[in-house]
Amino acid sequence: MSEICPKCGLPLEICACEALEKEESKKIKVFETKKKFRKLVTIIEGLDDADLSKTAKDLKQKLACGGTAKDGMIVLQGAHKEKVKGVLVSLGYLPESINVV
Ligand SMILES: [Zn+2]
Repeated sequence: MSEICPKCGLPLEICACEALEKEESKKIKVFETKKKFRKLVTIIEGLDDADLSKTAKDLKQKLACGGTAKDGMIVLQGAHKEKVKGVLVSLGYLPESINVV
């Protein structure tokens, strides 16, 4: 009997967990927080630095909110995480690369 991956339950020869974990590091993470911002903000991490300011501009426009882009992340004012994914997808990001926490 071949060994079974504890994560996905598939035999190790066909298990893709390791590849998926590598993908995971490229994922875009969307979450809401109040920490250190006092007001509720929506954070988007993991975007390409090259697209950061343009993506921030598009998000602010489509969600009609304020926000900033720096240090590889976008901070949007207010709670928008339910909508951010749809906007990112409309901008050309892959749905499966966007992780709404
Ligand atoms: Zn596996």
